[in-house]
Amino acid sequence: VSRSAVDLAPDLARMWLEHEARCAAVGIVLALTQTYRTPQEQQALYDQGRKAPGPACTHDGVVRPVGTCPRHPYGLTVTAAPPGYSFHEYRRAYDVGIKSYPEDLTPRNWYDGPWGQVGELGEACGLDWGGRWKRADLPHFEHHGGKTLAQWRAAATVPATHGG
Ligand SMILES: [Zn+2]
Ligand SMILES: [Zn+2]
Repeated sequence: VSRSAVDLAPDLARMWLEHEARCAAVGIVLALTQTYRTPQEQQALYDQGRKAPGPACTHDGVVRPVGTCPRHPYGLTVTAAPPGYSFHEYRRAYDVGIKSYPEDLTPRNWYDGPWGQVGELGEACGLDWGGRWKRADLPHFEHHGGKTLAQWRAAATVPATHGG
């Protein structure tokens, strides 16, 4: 799994730089945690919680380590997207971590800490934010580049980046 902007489509890499700068302007320091994933890497993520160990499940307010919950024998899943169905595989998505933010920052909307700001500033750059999804993925941003997922899948080849 890459965490380099060089592995994003060039237009998305430019949007990331703008997103990063807009957050920095309000004192929020971001870092990329994931950019491009190979189909094999997506498969390994998809397997977590399905046929390989995932995070411990936490329903009913109880933390149950993998192997101790009858409902979730492999723990929790981490993605709904099987291989071929994540925009990370088309260099059109990135995940961020928040390295620091101002102590006096007022949380926006219903999210804890600075995620509301990070999400809204990403949207202001033209990105789609995973925080709006039914199963919220706060660190995730994507931009489809004018194609549907079906069109990306049909195109089959992953476009080269400016990194070569
Ligand atoms: Zn469970
Ligand atoms: Zn993501």
